[in-house]
Amino acid sequence: MARSLPENAARQYKCSNCGMMFTVNGEQGDCPSCSHRCTPKDCQVVDASDQGY
Ligand SMILES: [Zn+2]
Repeated sequence: MARSLPENAARQYKCSNCGMMFTVNGEQGDCPSCSHRCTPKDCQVVDASDQGY
């Protein structure tokens, strides 16, 4: 799998503060639940096709 996503692809973040999962467009976004600012280093980024919860 050498397929890479475009820079503007939506990302799945998991808030490191409250654990809520949400989608952001870009590199960072605020958690819709607790307003914690999530960054790629701060929150977990998971593959959107791999969520089984
Ligand atoms: Zn949160």
